Amino acid sequence: MKMAFRGGIHPPQLKEFTKDKPIETMPLPNKVFVFLANHAGNPSKLIVSPGDEVKTGQIIGVPDGYISSYVHSPLTGRVVEVKKIFHPVLGRPMDAVVIERISEDQDQWMRLDTSGDFERMTREEILDLVRRAGVVGLGGAMFPTHVKLSPPPEKKVDTLIINGAECESVLTIDHRLMLERAEEILLGILIMMKVLKVEKAMLGIEDNKRDAYEHLKRVFKGYPVELKLLKTKYPQGAEKQLIYTLTGRRVPRGGLPMDVGVIVQNVGTCVAVKEAVIDGKPLVERGLTVSGDGVREPKNLMVRIGTPVSEVLEYCGGIDEKTEKVLLGGPMTGISITDLSIPILKGTSGITALLPRETGVQKPCIRCSRCVIACPMNLQPYLLYLLATKRRYDDAVNEGLMDCIECGSCSYVCPSKIEHVRHIKLAKNVYRATRRG
Ligand code: SF4
Ligand code: SF4
Repeated sequence: MKMAFRGGIHPPQLKEFTKDKPIETMPLPNKVFVFLANHAGNPSKLIVSPGDEVKTGQIIGVPDGYISSYVHSPLTGRVVEVKKIFHPVLGRPMDAVVIERISEDQDQWMRLDTSGDFERMTREEILDLVRRAGVVGLGGAMFPTHVKLSPPPEKKVDTLIINGAECESVLTIDHRLMLERAEEILLGILIMMKVLKVEKAMLGIEDNKRDAYEHLKRVFKGYPVELKLLKTKYPQGAEKQLIYTLTGRRVPRGGLPMDVGVIVQNVGTCVAVKEAVIDGKPLVERGLTVSGDGVREPKNLMVRIGTPVSEVLEYCGGIDEKTEKVLLGGPMTGISITDLSIPILKGTSGITALLPRETGVQKPCIRCSRCVIACPMNLQPYLLYLLATKRRYDDAVNEGLMDCIECGSCSYVCPSKIEHVRHIKLAKNVYRATRRG
């Protein structure tokens, strides 16, 4: 039986700008700005000082606690300073290490010591390589991968799901990875299956990427990885929706995929795991899409972490002077930025520049219930919006505020142009900060 998640929308794909463009490697930047914090866990502890010379892949930050990760230098150069800059995901200034390239042609790597033969490695040896390579979820969440691959013994995980849906408009980097690096994705999957001791893996891919589906079918032949073609519908790639579509299992409210025996990883993370375990390569670069109608030469790129957004845009011919909005990520879930000196993070899957659109003026809610029908989490977005704007945060939480996956489907369909997500995000942040300390 073909399962489909409830709700969802069909926004314009806008993938034609880059879907046929192979991934290019961007020239090395002269300076990078590397955050010691990636995610909700603890920032790493700095182990270098201004003036120190570092190689590409050299550790500059070590984990501080269990949910924390190693940070490596993306360049061969010199540490110039450590300064606070605005972290676009955490929403506040955080410590970033500024590293300057020493010379034009130098890129000397410091790799991890590995035999490369994962079949002979123990589970612990593999996890240690993933941890020391600083691998985090590249789908955007940036959660340390070695932690995600170590569920507690009481959680019986039997299925590894690989997210190849890439349902967000504009972005095509995962599509290109599946076309260009399918063998590495397969190796990453086999490594993670070994760590999780699971017999079954599935890769879900939307039916707007038929070429990648056919290619993966050939590469995966004879391996225990099931390929599943999914209907193109947003947000098909959201974890809970993907799990339901592929397995029929529902992650409980406030629960995690492992509560229903599943671990989800993104295709980019599969490549990063393969590189860590087989090549001993720390995570210092990532693939991303630079696109949208405001970008002069849209591209798929491999970029060093810490490169300023402005340099990446410049490499893509710059942006149209009429550009109204630049987002880290795609148009539905991307974070709007005004300061283009912000650096690329491990979780940056794209940069989208958009020209002005007819947006219209916000009007009062007319109780049409379109937002309720579109919500894939079965919430009542109009009510969450109302409670959030009235600062009734406890009531909003009782109505499922923390279950909102911030997909933006409600705002997309709303005839009154209500910006539910902006207010929901704000309410969540206030609730976390005030109620949980
Ligand atoms: S309330 Fe949250 S989960 Fe539901 S449609 Fe809006 S943004 Fe998506
Ligand atoms: S879609 Fe907009 S107008 Fe309709 S019920 Fe939801 S918030 Fe109100």
